[in-house]
Amino acid sequence: MKCKIFCSKCKKAYFDQWWLCPDCGESLDANNYLIKQKFVKTMGEGNTPLIRLEKLSNQLNCDLWAKCEYQNPTGSFKDRGSVVEIEKALELGKNGIVCASTGNMAASLSAYAARNNLRCKVVVPTQTPKSKLQQAVACGAILIKVDGAYDDCVDVAQSIADKENFFLCGDYLLRRQGQKSIGEELVGKEFDSFVVPIGNGNVGVAIAQGLRGVRFIGVKAKNKKTIASAIRVMNPLDECLISTWVQKTNGLLISVTDLNILEAQKILATEEGLCVENAAAATLAGLFKIKEKIRGQKIVLILTGSGLKD
Ligand SMILES: [Zn+2]
Repeated sequence: MKCKIFCSKCKKAYFDQWWLCPDCGESLDANNYLIKQKFVKTMGEGNTPLIRLEKLSNQLNCDLWAKCEYQNPTGSFKDRGSVVEIEKALELGKNGIVCASTGNMAASLSAYAARNNLRCKVVVPTQTPKSKLQQAVACGAILIKVDGAYDDCVDVAQSIADKENFFLCGDYLLRRQGQKSIGEELVGKEFDSFVVPIGNGNVGVAIAQGLRGVRFIGVKAKNKKTIASAIRVMNPLDECLISTWVQKTNGLLISVTDLNILEAQKILATEEGLCVENAAAATLAGLFKIKEKIRGQKIVLILTGSGLKD
């Protein structure tokens, strides 16, 4: 079957566009995208543990599970998407890769770039804490600091990609194709719902596409400057696709406060021994808010990133 790339909003079809619709600026989507691993050297990403949270199941009167995405090679689900983007960069013979990021994406891409002999540039806002970029720097990424917000960094990353023949990486079409495997690994386990933090929405949509029919519960941060940096996104790139898939699966979107997130993070660590990043803990914080609606259901939390990073 031939791969079809099309705009999620205006439906215009494309052949070799990997970012946003050049016409209307919305996310692109694809049917039958074939994931190749012809050039890329991988690191054992994916097939993460799925474990039952017994104490929390009892507390919430449901059957609660965790998909431990923080056990990927660089400590987050991003690795599943990075291999697809790196494969494309190598296939196109690019000089390197570039992304705008403040954490997980930079850590993941810089590691895969190092392993695959690609140069890696990461564009970050000047105020990004050093600790967030430690992994990327360790793997040899070049940091470019921009006096502005995340959106300004995306513009700079784009111009580097054009000028230096680098491949622009980010929460776009290709990354979503890689992240679908989270959903595929959960097929047949009879979950009623999956719960995922929403930043750009890329991973939530990917899971919904891989795990068709299971209810999509997305959790956003209420606070614009939330401590959960991985979901500190004001205008999600995949907003259009999120609402499509939430509707399609009869799902819902929940907002949580920073206090809710910190409490949930503590509970996951002290009750179940899982040390996860703030954004990952937002999933449990969201479930607490809909406690009455989930009685007796089988639910999986997508624990996106490691607590060792924060
Ligand atoms: Zn469009």
